[in-house]
Amino acid sequence: MKQQKVKQGLDQLPVTRLKGVGPKNAERLARIGVQTVQDVLFHLPLRYEDRTRLIPIGRLRPGDHAVIEGEVQRSEVRFGRRRSLLVYLSDLSGSITLRLFHFSRAQQDGFKPGVRLRCYGEVRNGPASYEMVHPEYQQVGASDDPGLEERLTPIYPTTEGMHQLSWRNITSAALTLFQQQSDALPEWLPESLLKRYQFPNLYEAIAYLHRPPTEASLSELEEGRHATQRRLAFEELLSHQLSLQQLRQRQRRIEAPMLSGDGKLRRQLLDALPFQLTQAQQRVVSEIAADIELGYPMMRLVQGDVGSGKTIVAAMAALQAIESGHQVVLMAPTELLAEQHYRNLLSWLEPLKVTVGWLAGRHKGKVRTGFLDSLASGDIQVVIGTHALFQDDVLFHSLGLVVIDEQHRFGVHQRLALREKGAGQGSTPHQLIMTATPIPRTLAMTAYADLDLSVIDELPPGRTPVTTVAVADGRRDQVIERVRVACGDGRQAYWVCTLIEESEALQCQAAEDTAEQLTEALPMLSVGLVHGRMKSGDKEQVMAAFKAGELDLLVATTVIEVGVDVPNASLMIIENPERLGLAQLHQLRGRVGRGAVESHCVLMYKPPLSHNASQRLRVMRETNDGFVIAQKDLELRGPGEVLGTRQTGEMQFRIADVMRDQPMLPAIHDAAETILNQHPERVAPLIARWVGHKQAYINA
Ligand code: ADP
Ligand code: MG
Repeated sequence: MKQQKVKQGLDQLPVTRLKGVGPKNAERLARIGVQTVQDVLFHLPLRYEDRTRLIPIGRLRPGDHAVIEGEVQRSEVRFGRRRSLLVYLSDLSGSITLRLFHFSRAQQDGFKPGVRLRCYGEVRNGPASYEMVHPEYQQVGASDDPGLEERLTPIYPTTEGMHQLSWRNITSAALTLFQQQSDALPEWLPESLLKRYQFPNLYEAIAYLHRPPTEASLSELEEGRHATQRRLAFEELLSHQLSLQQLRQRQRRIEAPMLSGDGKLRRQLLDALPFQLTQAQQRVVSEIAADIELGYPMMRLVQGDVGSGKTIVAAMAALQAIESGHQVVLMAPTELLAEQHYRNLLSWLEPLKVTVGWLAGRHKGKVRTGFLDSLASGDIQVVIGTHALFQDDVLFHSLGLVVIDEQHRFGVHQRLALREKGAGQGSTPHQLIMTATPIPRTLAMTAYADLDLSVIDELPPGRTPVTTVAVADGRRDQVIERVRVACGDGRQAYWVCTLIEESEALQCQAAEDTAEQLTEALPMLSVGLVHGRMKSGDKEQVMAAFKAGELDLLVATTVIEVGVDVPNASLMIIENPERLGLAQLHQLRGRVGRGAVESHCVLMYKPPLSHNASQRLRVMRETNDGFVIAQKDLELRGPGEVLGTRQTGEMQFRIADVMRDQPMLPAIHDAAETILNQHPERVAPLIARWVGHKQAYINA
């Protein structure tokens, strides 16, 4: 019979065209997103079983998955807690028990002494001997040999109602189609690239992964390091990269105000500052300056370690916008930080006759209405607030620049949504995102390929690195004594309370209790308290008092994590640091070491420490470098965690694993260039193949 020619590509061909896939199975497959033959081919096994060899029963060990063959000695039904059928099977090397909980009369009768069985299953420790519970089995005659598998047996991730056997059948059918018509699922990676990295072609890779040969290395496959897997991961990451670059190109067609400015305000600010910008700050300021002069919206991420001086960089960008007659929004993640930015910007910009406003959550009624009017009329030139700034009733006269501080937990879509809110009068504001959570460059290039990246890789001069020690909480008295000495010398200290519970209430309670105890233990010191449940006015007062030096010791929850700046504070105690991630610890510790005096951080943990926790604390003791810490964090926690909520959609890959595949990222960036320049027609199909549904979302 002649094979019917498939006209459609396999990415269009519905699964129902495969033998064995009727409406029922099609429905089951659809539940896990498998709709086309291409989806079937890209649905790769989770793991493999080796059924290519017969294992002597005497060599079995618990946990082994093995094919065995032996003779039934006898069988019996046991009535224990659960009725079970036990079949005793032996070969020349030993014996094993097969245990079945569900069995029919016919099955039971089949296990006559002398019958030969071939079984596949997992070996477990049973009450009397090793056992296989519900193995797959078949009867074999004395002379006939059913033959062993010639390839490793794939085990697929599945959904209810789809058995492994069905998966094997439909993947076989799909592979046959693919083999007959390789152009129905085209190779998009250029020949030169396959050669350079010694990658197999698409068919070879897919066929190998569904049906690996006997000699394939199971460990290599399990770790995802086989050339076939790397090739597919490469293609997937490449497609992801291309889609983000395409997004970026699309941005260039959006109109934004050209914020050239005459430089006057910026010069005045620089003249008034008590310090000079570092080289790194100057570089980043000019990178931003060049961007926002252009007629399409900037999307730039500034990474700078805690204390690297990002705020002044934002202020310079703001002034450039104001010089050009536009307004600026600065968005902070918390009210506390918004207020601090407000005070900073006020002190820098007010002398230049720039009007700075702060929209706090507690501004209600008339105050709020009045404020919104001045925003809409353009009387307020710079406004600072939290995400509350993006409520529908907040309108601008001419918004030119949006600065988002200390926030990297935004995905592409949220960033775009924010920008849309600021858009009006046919033009879209520029966007500057500042983060103190350094992300290793390669990862940043993948996760944020839609953004330009600036790095402030230098701290202002005169900072001394923070010395960090880890101390078990049994030595609490000594730690308290340390606080007494430091504050006695006129310096200030933080005491940070953390709790594993997500409950903010409990965390605040713990901070309150601790503040009380410390007040008692240190009667000569004035102790303040801030936590997330205090009224923002009260919080402000406490922070202001601490900043002014009226308080010696500040007990706080992790609300002080980001941004708070008190240079005279030189000691930080962190309780239960083992419960925090590296990034958070680094952020917290960044509150000290901001002045010229030597600073210390005491990590007061509760023993015993898990292996992972003690590794984290060791990293903290060994380095102050945010990028080193970020790299370690990535190794210990994986990219999903490091990138925050981002991973939930955009960083989820079918085959790639950013951590594992990190070494390939530079090559992938090169390949993206090559494809864009030499094979532009392949961009769309690659994106469709790997990022299709997400891309649709971005376009929506
Ligand atoms: P972060 O990058 O953590 O947001 P900040 O902007 O809060 O850092 O700056 C930290 C401190 O360093 C502030 O007190 C700021 O005024 C000061 N600062 C910023 N740039 C410089 C500089 N070039 N020289 C000296 N001090 C600086
Ligand atoms: Mg900051």
